Amino acid sequence: MRRVIIVGAGPAGCITALCLARSRRVEAILVERRALPRPKTCAGGLSPWTLTLLAELGLRERVEPEGHPIRGATLANRRGEAVRLRGRHRAVVLPRSRFDAILAEEAVRAGATLREGERVRGLLRARGRAVGVVTDAGELEADAVVIATGAAPLEPRPHAAPREERFFGILARYEGLAGIDDELELYLEEEIRPHYAWVFPEGPSRANVGLCYRRSAGGASARELLDTFLARRLAERLRGASLVGRVVAHPIQATLWPRPEQLAAPGLLRVGEAGELVDAISGEGIYHALASGQLAAANLLEGGSAPEARYARAVQRALGPRLALGAALSVLGRSPLFPVVGGLLGVSPVRRAVEELFARL
Ligand SMILES: Cc1cc2nc3c(=O)[nH]c(=O)nc-3n(C[C@H](O)[C@H](O)[C@H](O)COP(=O)(O)OP(=O)(O)OC[C@H]3O[C@@H](n4cnc5c(N)ncnc54)[C@H](O)[C@@H]3O)c2cc1C
Repeated sequence: MRRVIIVGAGPAGCITALCLARSRRVEAILVERRALPRPKTCAGGLSPWTLTLLAELGLRERVEPEGHPIRGATLANRRGEAVRLRGRHRAVVLPRSRFDAILAEEAVRAGATLREGERVRGLLRARGRAVGVVTDAGELEADAVVIATGAAPLEPRPHAAPREERFFGILARYEGLAGIDDELELYLEEEIRPHYAWVFPEGPSRANVGLCYRRSAGGASARELLDTFLARRLAERLRGASLVGRVVAHPIQATLWPRPEQLAAPGLLRVGEAGELVDAISGEGIYHALASGQLAAANLLEGGSAPEARYARAVQRALGPRLALGAALSVLGRSPLFPVVGGLLGVSPVRRAVEELFARL
């Protein structure tokens, strides 16, 4: 039986392992450096399209009941004028420690082997091809290696963004935040445009609050940006709330367009954030992680030569246009026109038209 090693048990790695194991034709070994469940700095928003993909994978019924149900979103401009988007779309917010643990459990149930608490140190190579990994416990050979290590690169990235252009997210979790219900709250803030700040409810009185931003040389720190946002938008609602755990920041590896060399090499496939498959404006990456994991498994199972190149093309077809749209919006968002667009939220007829349009989608 062929053996595939998957490095990293986030959504991308777990879905790759699950789909391979379900085939019963491949031995899938999932190696995770931490013990599960493990925390992951993430707002845990599972978008409507992510829930649809989870349904295709037969996992929606397992995941959705555990999350906090979301029925809409509010988008506010810098003057506090907001559009309320409510329709038939459903989403959930589920802390990643739980979401990832469910996916790992399902991968194991399907027949994958999970080796937790074992760090992969590097790749084994022969004649320019990946033929296994070196872990804390020793060498492990394989017919193919899938890298699903998220933002943490296993090897230096060939096209790493300059330090001052790197993309980050910062997040705090509060118990007792007033005024949360079944809506995601998104805030357009001048200091972080074209990105945004958010409040994602995780329960009746618990929410995670954060923002994503591009670091600029000499600009405010992540913590200063978050503190400014909290003071400007949430001061009243945070009275009586308490911080749960620590404020955490994390890099986000996003791409404008997935290039073949960032996705694959002989014997090697990169899925999820390891392949930089994250939206460049919103920082959404769970959908891309699941979709690329599914495509990696499908192409490895298809047989024939060069599954790596087929996988890269499949990712470009399936996720390229979506990522390019995020990239285009990110460029637009930096233009002087962006505040004008935000300003339109203050015009009542425009607001009503957007709300009505969304309700019909
Ligand atoms: C603040 C913030 C908020 C976000 N909010 C959202 C959101 O609401 N919705 C959304 O869709 N996306 C969101 N994202 C993006 C999302 O978190 C990531 O894109 C997603 O987790 C990528 O999944 P992955 O499986 O590729 O990698 P990860 O989830 O990062 O998993 C990688 C795994 O690999 C393991 N690993 C790493 N190196 C090794 C090694 N050498 N050996 C063994 N194991 C290793 C890690 O421990 C980890 O478990 C957010 C990101 C940030 C920073």
